[in-house]
Formats: sequence, C-alpha cells, structure tokens
Amino acid sequence: MDINAKFHALRFKDFYKRVSHSKSLKDYGDILAGFEEASRKVYSENNRGVVVDKPPELLSEMLDIILKAKPDIVAFSIVYSSQCFYTRALIDELKKQGIGCVAGGPAVNSKIRERCTCLNNEVELLDFILSRFKDEKGDVPKIFKGSEFCCRITADFSDYDKDDYLSKEMIIPLKTSSSCYYRQCAFCTHYSADRYFEYDLHDIKESIVKSEAKNVFFIDDMISKPRLLAIAKMIKPLKVKWWCQLRPTKDLIGSFEELHDSGLAVLAWGVESGNQRVLNLIKKGTKVEDMESVLRASHDAGIKNIVYLLFGFPIETKDEFLDTIDFIKRNDGCIDLVSTSIFGLQKGSKVFKEPCAFGITGVESHKRTVLDDRFTYKVERGMDSEEAKKMRNRYIKTIKKIDKMPRVVNAYKEQALLFC
Ligand code: SF4
Repeated sequence: MDINAKFHALRFKDFYKRVSHSKSLKDYGDILAGFEEASRKVYSENNRGVVVDKPPELLSEMLDIILKAKPDIVAFSIVYSSQCFYTRALIDELKKQGIGCVAGGPAVNSKIRERCTCLNNEVELLDFILSRFKDEKGDVPKIFKGSEFCCRITADFSDYDKDDYLSKEMIIPLKTSSSCYYRQCAFCTHYSADRYFEYDLHDIKESIVKSEAKNVFFIDDMISKPRLLAIAKMIKPLKVKWWCQLRPTKDLIGSFEELHDSGLAVLAWGVESGNQRVLNLIKKGTKVEDMESVLRASHDAGIKNIVYLLFGFPIETKDEFLDTIDFIKRNDGCIDLVSTSIFGLQKGSKVFKEPCAFGITGVESHKRTVLDDRFTYKVERGMDSEEAKKMRNRYIKTIKKIDKMPRVVNAYKEQALLFC
C-alpha cells in the first residue's frame, strides 16, 4: 500500500477535487503549486512533532489502514529522507502492537536501522519472510527464482487506488537497474552500497502492460546508451510516454530521433555546471561544448530537457558559478526546466571520504534525532554553501526565466510528462 498517497488523499481533499475539475494545463500547474506549498507546511510541522515524540497528523487513520490488512510483518520502502519521520512514528506504534517491521530503500538511515531490521534488496526481503516459516526438518524453503539480487516478480500496480494520486493521468515509476553504472561523480552516494545490476526488460514490459499506464517514469539514477536503446526498442510498441535521467555525453547524439519515436518525451540531464574545471572536479566525465550539442540535438528531436545544476561544489568560484548562468542563458532555447541544488557533504561520497583532495577542511558533524548526522565544513577557497545559496538567490529571476514548464514540476518531476 502507498501510505504516502493515502495520507495526501485524506489530508488534502480539496486539491484532489480541484484536479478532477481542472480545465487547462495552466490550471493544473497552479493546483499542483498550491498543493506543494500547503503540503510543505504540513510536513514541516509534522516532522517537528515527531522529533519530540508527538504523533503526526492522521497517524491513527494510517495505522488503521495498515492493521486492516492483518499483517504479520510490515515492510517500509523509504525513498526520501523526509519519509523517515512518519515511518518512525508508524514503526513505534506497530511494534507496540507486537507487529514486526522491516525497512529498505535508498533513504533508510541509521535511526531507522536502530528500530528495525533493514534489508538491501527484494531477495533479502523474501529470505527474511521465508526464514519465519521453517519446515519440519528446520529448513527454510527457498521458493524464489532468479539471481542473487532479483526475484523477477513483476509489479502491476493493481494494489494502488488511482484516486489516491494527485495527478491528471496515471504515471507509474519503474526502475530498470539496481544502481548507477558510472559511479564516478564525487558528490554522489547513490551507487555506494549497491552492485550494478540490470533487471530483465521482459519483466519491465510486463509491468507496463499489466498496469495499463500510458506514462512511465524511469527512476534509474542513470542509464547507459546501449541499455537506453534496448529500452526504446522494448517500449515502442506499447505507445507510452516515458521519462528518464542521463549524463549529457556526445555518444547520445544521433539517437534522439529513435528515442523520441519510441515515446521518450522528457530527459533530465545531470549538467551540474557550465564550467569545465568544476565538471572535472566533480569527475562528471562531460564536456561543456558536448553538453550544448546534446541539449540541442535532444530538443531538435522533440524531447523536453530538464537540466540539473549543482551550485557550490567545493572551491567553485563566483566566476565559475556565473559560467553556469551563462550556459543556461546560451542554451535557453533548448532547456524546458532548470532544477537547482546546493552541494551538501554526504556521508559515503568521494568528497566525504577524501575532503582534503577537494579543498574541504574543518568537517563537523551535528547530531539529529530522526535523520542521520548533518555535516558542515569549510572550504580552502571559493564559495561555501551559504555563498552559493546567496548567488542562487541573486540569479533566481534569470534561472526562472529559462523555464517553459511550471516551476512546480521541480518538486514532482514525473509530472513533466503531462506538460509535453
Ligand atoms: S550523479 Fe548520477 S551519473 Fe553521477 S554517479 Fe551519481 S547517479 Fe551516477
């Protein structure tokens, strides 16, 4: 069950009603923006409450929904750090009722690990469940087929209630691989724990067909060119629109028509910076001039481009920041949405492991109650995060001027599929 969606459907009924009556895409974008603002306030109040052991809103309603299914074990999939707050409250209540909890997903943190068993993949989850059912000889049955990491059970999304989603059309999220194969970017932690593994495209196809969805949001961190073309071949006959994220490398030029023809409608690009020295520091493996040609070729093929920018990577200077601003201005015609973030020191990243190599000094950790420790640092030269934030604020009008899609799509990136 999707407790997130259940919470939203119950807590923000008005927005759901308004979406069903929205007449234009402009209307729809405005409703999403209103929802984003209202929900942000609610999350922050609830999260503050969880820190001091105050139950978040609708906790007993959400517990009732879970308990109605009479679970032996409740497994939580935690995708965003912000979900740790509500999950923690649910785990504490379920444990009081003697129900075992397990958790997994990219945003599981040390505080969740203290509360319940955390597992790395679906096979470990099956093993965990099966370990509770030993036969007379005391052996644990092994019923799953497949490899070490994948039990090849296809999702069909039939357990989810379409009315729980604030979306004009159904969009399904799917992952075609376990992690990122590139594994180089110095700020990134997405690949640290997982072995790279590609799921069978027959299973992905079956999921899409069974779901009957016409919009597919591939949530892979990154997809290689051969794999991208294999996905395009698999998906083309299904006549769906799809979205994925890539590194802007020039090997992709020449494939965009084929990709667009298969239904690829939106690409989110890890551009990060418009300055070559910063790209080299990040180890992005991209070139500024190639990125421009890639964005142009993708745009010319009819694909919408979302550009991710990272400001304040250690020792980035103000002039280098301005190179990025120039980059988006130069490529305005090929960019549909700019999505910015500020560098943060993440445990497990290359920068965290070797701070001196990246010009970082004075790393300090700060304890938090629900989330993992937060790290602050100083830089030998260039901008620190505060300065990077100030520079972003100073140029926010320029950044917003580039956007052709409603800015709220930055919060709900899958929605870009409905603005094409
Ligand atoms: S930023 Fe993207 S491409 Fe780079 S290592 Fe992380 S997931 Fe891979």
